[in-house]
Amino acid sequence: MAEMKVKCLYCGSEEVSLYGKNRTGRQRYLCRNEACRHKTFQVEYKNQASRPGTKEKIIEMVMNGAGTRDTGGVLKISPNTVTAVLKKRNSMSSR
Ligand SMILES: [Zn+2]
Repeated sequence: MAEMKVKCLYCGSEEVSLYGKNRTGRQRYLCRNEACRHKTFQVEYKNQASRPGTKEKIIEMVMNGAGTRDTGGVLKISPNTVTAVLKKRNSMSSR
C-alpha cells in the first residue's frame, strides 16, 4: 500500500496520526498540533469535488472537449458531480 501524506484539514499540519474509523467506515485522523482547534478530522475522498481547485479543473477539462465521464474518471469523482458543477456554473455566469 502506498503511504499517503495526510494533512490536517484545519491547520495544515502533517503531524497527524490515525484515529480509528467512524460509523461509515471512513478513516479518521487525529491532529497532533496542539494549537489546532479541531483535533480529529476525516479525509473525504468521496467529496473530492468540494476541494479547492476541483471545480476549476472540471471546467477546464470540459472546455477542452472532455466528456463528463472522462472528467469524472480523471478527477475521481462521479459524472453526476461533474454535471452538477457545470450546471451551477451555467446558472451563475450571466455573461
Ligand atoms: Zn490541525
